[in-house]
Amino acid sequence: EAKAAGRATFRFFDPHMQVALDASATLEADLRFALQRDELRLYYQPVVDGSGRVTGVEALLRWQHPQRGLIAPGEFIPQAEKSGLIVELGDWVLAAACRQLVGWSATADSAHLTMAVNVSARQFRQPAFVDQVLAVLERTGADPRLLKLELTESMLLTDMDDVIAKMTTLKAHGVGFALDDFGTGYSSLSYLKLLPIDQLKIDRSFVHDMLHTRHASSIVRAIITLAYSMDLAVVAEGVETREQWSALEAFGCNAFQGYLFGRAVPLDELAVLPDGGAYCTPCELLPAAMLD
Ligand code: C2E
Ligand code: MG
Ligand code: MG
Ligand code: MG
Repeated sequence: EAKAAGRATFRFFDPHMQVALDASATLEADLRFALQRDELRLYYQPVVDGSGRVTGVEALLRWQHPQRGLIAPGEFIPQAEKSGLIVELGDWVLAAACRQLVGWSATADSAHLTMAVNVSARQFRQPAFVDQVLAVLERTGADPRLLKLELTESMLLTDMDDVIAKMTTLKAHGVGFALDDFGTGYSSLSYLKLLPIDQLKIDRSFVHDMLHTRHASSIVRAIITLAYSMDLAVVAEGVETREQWSALEAFGCNAFQGYLFGRAVPLDELAVLPDGGAYCTPCELLPAAMLD
């Protein structure tokens, strides 16, 4: 019967699927205008030393979408990478982060703070990447020695000569480099030696598991030992509990980042700066219940 056939035609139509498809297409289209509409925001997460003193921040991108509210980078950076829009977004992030550095340079409490900025693979691969960074530094007047670019291991494995050339040029201007999410990619220890890196950031998955599995705790210890033996700084990411913090300290780690010390927040909520002194007392920033 016609009615039955008609129904059969729509057998595979799942309204939820269509909604999801429309949503991602719309999101991609919206992303093109996010810059013009001034919808991008930088959030800042503190990085602290062994005594809880804030030594710097990591800039983390957010998209304040007019309909959907705040969108995390995991939901739009992959699309921006695919479309190439990441180059423009990355330029905006760098400029905003450098302007903030200049803003902090006027106050004694905050003048020493470093700014870590995440760089995507496609952005770093651009032949003009070095010029892009140097132009932003010059335009804003930010101190290059306070800027730390965060790369991931996978970005470094192809075209090593190009990678080394770019890093060396920027380093000559004072810019620092960190290897983000360290331990999750293809770490080749011999490559590590060739690259002018300043810091390893222990991926938060290892910190998360280190008190439950010996495997994770061995990896954490190995990364810390590796870093120090190569004269690199090491930062533990994703520190959420006091227990993780003290275990990391016992292993010799002396720089930390994570919800225990503070989440990524907009500038006006970065309570540790500058009037409250550049100290961040863990556990006072968050109700104890949130730490467990
Ligand atoms: P990431 O660079 O490894 O940044 C750390 C992520 O872990 C952030 O997520 C941060 O909010 C989260 N985090 C920090 N402490 C804790 C903790 O104690 N527990 C847990 N569970 N999570 C914690 P976010 O802001 O969603 O960023 C995710 C990723 O998006 C970043 O990972 C980075 O790879 C990328 N990203 C962020 N901003 C930018 C950007 O401006 N440019 C590029 N290319 N990528 C960015
Ligand atoms: Mg990072
Ligand atoms: Mg990371
Ligand atoms: Mg990452």
